[in-house]
Amino acid sequence: MGKIIGIDLGTSNSVVAVMERGKPTVITNRKGGRTTPSVVAFTKDGKRLVGQDAERQAVTNPQNTIYSIRRFMGRRFAEVQEEINWVPYQVIEAGNGDAWVQIGDKAYAPPEISAMVLRELKEAAEEFLREKVTEAVIAVPAHFNSSQRQATRDAGKIAGLNVVRIFTEPMAAALAYYDLSKSVDETIVIYDLGGGNCSLSVLEIEDSFVKMKTINGDTRLGGDDFDRRIMDWLTTEFKRDHDIDLSRDSVAMKRLKHSAEQVKCELSSIAETKVDLPFLAADASEPKHLSTHLSRTEFEQMIQDLVEKSIELCKLLLRDSGLSPGEIDEVVLVGGSTRVPMVQEAIRHFFGKKPKKSLNPDEAVAIGAAILGGMRSGEVKDVVFEEVTTLSLGVETRGGVMTPIIGRNSKLPARGRQIVSTAADNQPSIEVHVLQGEREMARDNHTLGRFNLEGIPAAPRGVPQIEVTFDIDADGMVSIIKDSGTTKAQQITMTGAVGLDEREIDRMVQDAKTYAQEDAGGAD
Ligand code: AMP
Repeated sequence: MGKIIGIDLGTSNSVVAVMERGKPTVITNRKGGRTTPSVVAFTKDGKRLVGQDAERQAVTNPQNTIYSIRRFMGRRFAEVQEEINWVPYQVIEAGNGDAWVQIGDKAYAPPEISAMVLRELKEAAEEFLREKVTEAVIAVPAHFNSSQRQATRDAGKIAGLNVVRIFTEPMAAALAYYDLSKSVDETIVIYDLGGGNCSLSVLEIEDSFVKMKTINGDTRLGGDDFDRRIMDWLTTEFKRDHDIDLSRDSVAMKRLKHSAEQVKCELSSIAETKVDLPFLAADASEPKHLSTHLSRTEFEQMIQDLVEKSIELCKLLLRDSGLSPGEIDEVVLVGGSTRVPMVQEAIRHFFGKKPKKSLNPDEAVAIGAAILGGMRSGEVKDVVFEEVTTLSLGVETRGGVMTPIIGRNSKLPARGRQIVSTAADNQPSIEVHVLQGEREMARDNHTLGRFNLEGIPAAPRGVPQIEVTFDIDADGMVSIIKDSGTTKAQQITMTGAVGLDEREIDRMVQDAKTYAQEDAGGAD
């Protein structure tokens, strides 16, 4: 059996790792980096750049440089209104209502863009292993719904990778953290604060059995928000000093974002730093420069409410688990933003113990994915794990209410049943609106699709009793919908699902292959 690579397909950066001589090993990319920026760029002369090369030219080519594509994976255009304003490239509504990216005269589905990053990782792995790689395990954020997980799997397919397993980042971190050949009996919290989201989970580890108990988080809380606070401060300062509003200047904003992130990272290790951005703007008379200082204390004031928000989430997490902070044996840090000293201090204060920093927050997830790849290929033995659903699965019922069928934090795989009936006499079909999310009203949750149960025999309303069975598989994907009960529908059709159909995927697979061949031909 060939090697199965483990991939962390991150919002900001991606990492690939594999089991080598019994050890998970991070594979360096072709530029020598252990992490690859999840950035793709289309240059004016028709070239496609991925990773470091794409990132390097981002400032001068913002509209054609795609970063944070993970935010748009498996999502409808209507769901991403807020995120659209954060990126300088154009996000459009595709014919089926999904969010796609428009570059010049071509529209790309988010999985197509992610596939370009995946292909880069795949090729790095092939060079490292000196063999073809066709199978991968990909870790996704725990809050990813079924559509987002499917989009991730599609991205793998477009990149020429069969994604044999999708699992969650906190589970990957737990696998990376523990040497599971040793006997352990602990309850741990994985505190993951990345660029775009915060994910918190409680896991129980007993010998080689890793069990996820509860999960919580916020998909809109992360290091990007810290950057934005610095950017807001810088634009206000600039407006005050020069009376120029930078917020509509996409090149200036890109430079500000870059600089804000750099300043933030520096403040994790030093107490004060400088911000210098020459020629940031100009008025009729002269160019304007930005030059100022920021101290760690000032930065901490800017982000205090955000850090507190993550601690509030920790409280909810423990409440759901029925645990007190003192019952947590370890708090393991994952995600780049846990390098912020204020974050570490807030965790120490809440849990009453120093969080564990032994994992490299950039690499832990990929290492865990490589271990799972090893489990699948038989290289890693005797480790067992179990995950939970991170979102409730339900259907829309009378009054537009979401009625949960499989609750959040249910053990995977999970199964739930719901009896549906007709609302009018002789109604020939019933539409079942399938949702994922925690909000009370159906419209506020994510629509997985609408199932039409058709061909129902004529009967007074309420008499047909159709039992619909929902399955969520071990990868967290809603996979089977069955129909039984006293009445059966003759046909089930699905409409309105997010994502690509087989034909579109095949076309994208073909496009990607053609491009790879052209690229190989043009390289020498
Ligand atoms: P991740 O999603 O785990 O790759 O984390 C990316 C986030 O971590 C970005 O917002 C980075 O700016 C942030 N980050 C990386 N290194 C540091 C650092 N030394 N201090 C503060 N934030 C950091």
